[in-house]
Order: sequence, then structure tokens, then C-alpha cells
Amino acid sequence: MPGRCLPVARNRFVQRAGCGRFAPSPTGDLHLGNLRTALISWLLARQDGAAWIVRMEDLDPVTSSTDFARSQLADLAALGMVSDRDVVYQSQRFALYRDAIATLRAAGVVYECYCTRREIRQAATAAHPAPHGELPEGAYPGTCRRLDQASRMRLQGDGRRPALRLLSEAGSIDFTDLIGGAMSGLVDDVVLQRNDGVPAYNLAVVVDDADQGVTQVVRGDDLASSTPRQIELQRLLGLRTPQYAHVPLVLGPDGSRLAKRDGDVTLARLAARGVTAGQVLARLGASLFDSDDGGVRRSVTIDELLARFSVAQLPTTRWRLSAAELNGDDLPRSLPRSQP
Ligand code: GLU
Repeated sequence: MPGRCLPVARNRFVQRAGCGRFAPSPTGDLHLGNLRTALISWLLARQDGAAWIVRMEDLDPVTSSTDFARSQLADLAALGMVSDRDVVYQSQRFALYRDAIATLRAAGVVYECYCTRREIRQAATAAHPAPHGELPEGAYPGTCRRLDQASRMRLQGDGRRPALRLLSEAGSIDFTDLIGGAMSGLVDDVVLQRNDGVPAYNLAVVVDDADQGVTQVVRGDDLASSTPRQIELQRLLGLRTPQYAHVPLVLGPDGSRLAKRDGDVTLARLAARGVTAGQVLARLGASLFDSDDGGVRRSVTIDELLARFSVAQLPTTRWRLSAAELNGDDLPRSLPRSQP
């Protein structure tokens, strides 16, 4: 869609030299899956001679905490990953995001949306034709696109505050993922600003990646469906698209996405069992390369992993942790075990 590029913002976010990033939300301690994604982003950046930075995605004041930001940074550092530049906090950058929304507004591609989540769910499942055919789950069906003035006044009179959405005409966007290869996704009218005034994830990520000169985006593959939306925003704002690498998620023994309820999956919990940072790196490394290190039986340094890292070898399927791995049954006998 080069024709819809908005040149207004082209020079606003200056691209710098190559840079990888890890962008956690400080809403809890990092678990093995998050640490593995961070490790891949670090290895990829280091191998390419690029900088590596951490960005705290603390847009949501209710779920984010500075304590978690601190513990996440400490855990990354314990494994040898320290941001090459000052850590940026999204909560301190709202002016930058609002600036980008103003650019989009000036181009006439922003509209107000008064829908509740429930209404969106209902409309999406009803017979209304979606604007672009089949849309990703949770996608917005375009209800408020052509809201007339009378309806808008009525909704405002009911005390509803609008979110801001992008008037998208992108349809489908293709991209090549470093891990997953050719990918394609439909783009809906993504939220730019929530109805409580907080800038939305996709907008903030696009603005920050450009502003920080990020050229490599490594993140979980649960976010791959957001990438076409982000590419559309980059095009509209005249920003470069980074290289994406979506890491297949780590799963617990039941096959669902790894979570803290699965047991000792955080560095602190593993440390309490006597598992060292070097052993965690060995376990993560064993999941990244074809290796017979035996996971926690060995200890490795992050530089040893770097020497062996090859993006071409990264597994393209999800990593399912066995119950034995989670219970620590594969730990060497000399390590202290937690009491039953
Ligand atoms: N903050 C997001 C998360 O923790 C990651 C966003 C991204 O990497 O683009 O899941």
C-alpha cells in the first residue's frame, strides 16, 4: 500500500544502526519461555553485531509494576543480558504516541469507536459482513466506521468514552519471518488509543521500534497475528519495517502455554532449588540447538551459547516441557531439591 504512506512523520523517528530488542510487560516475573525469547533476541543481535536493548511495556498502569520491571531486569542480567542503552519505559512516552495518533488523524485515517468488548464479540459473530472478509479472532468488524452524528451524541450522552481506531484499508499483509518463513495476515481497524486514554499496544510498539532504531524484533509467536497490523501502521507513518522473528512458544506438560502455575519456571524458583544461571542457560540452549548437553546437567555461559548459535537451527515448532523437567526430576542428584 505504498500509495497510502504518510510522508508527514518520515523524519520524526530517526532510524539508527542495527538494534535488537526485548520488550517485556512488567506484569510478573519472567518464566523460562520469556527468558528463552530474550536469549534468542540477545544472541541474534550479538551475532549480527547489533545493539541489544530492553524496553518495558508498562502502558497499563493497573497490571504493570516497577517491582516486576526491576526483577525482570535483574533476571536478564543474571543470565548475562544487560541493555546496551538506558531502559525505556512506555509509561513515560505517551506524548510520542499521541503525536503519532495526531499524524494519523491529520491524514483522516482515525475514527472514534464506542463499542464495548461484548458488542464487538456479538457483532463479530453476527451476520454482518466484515470489512475485509475473514478476520483474525477478536478482530473489530467495523461497527463504528460510519457512525452518524446523532448516534455519536446518543452514545456520548450515555456516558460512553470513545476509543480511537485506525481506518484500515490494508486487507492482507505479507511478511517474511526469520523463523517461520512466509507469513500473511488480515488487518482490521486496530485500536490506537483505548477508551481510558491509554495509547494502545500496536501503536506504541511501532512508534518505539522506529524511535529506538530497532531493526530486529524477536517475540513470541502468539504476537505474529499483530505483525500485519504493525506493518500497516509503519507504512502509514512512513517508518521502516524491522526484521521479525516470532519464536514458537514454550508449552507446559499439558500442552497449554507455559505459565507460572506450571511450577518452578522462574529464575527465583529455580534458584531456590539450587539451579544456577549457567544451568538455566544450558537448559535453554539445549532447546535452541540440536545438543546433547542434557539441559540442566551442564552449566554454560551465554558466550558459549553465542559461539554455537545459528538462527537457521532454531526450532520452528513449540517446545513442550515435560513434567520431569518441571518437577526437577532431571536435576543432578547433588543439587538441593525442594521439600515435598
Ligand atoms: N510486551 C509484549 C509481551 O510481553 C511483547 C511485545 C513485543 O515484543 O512486541 O508479551
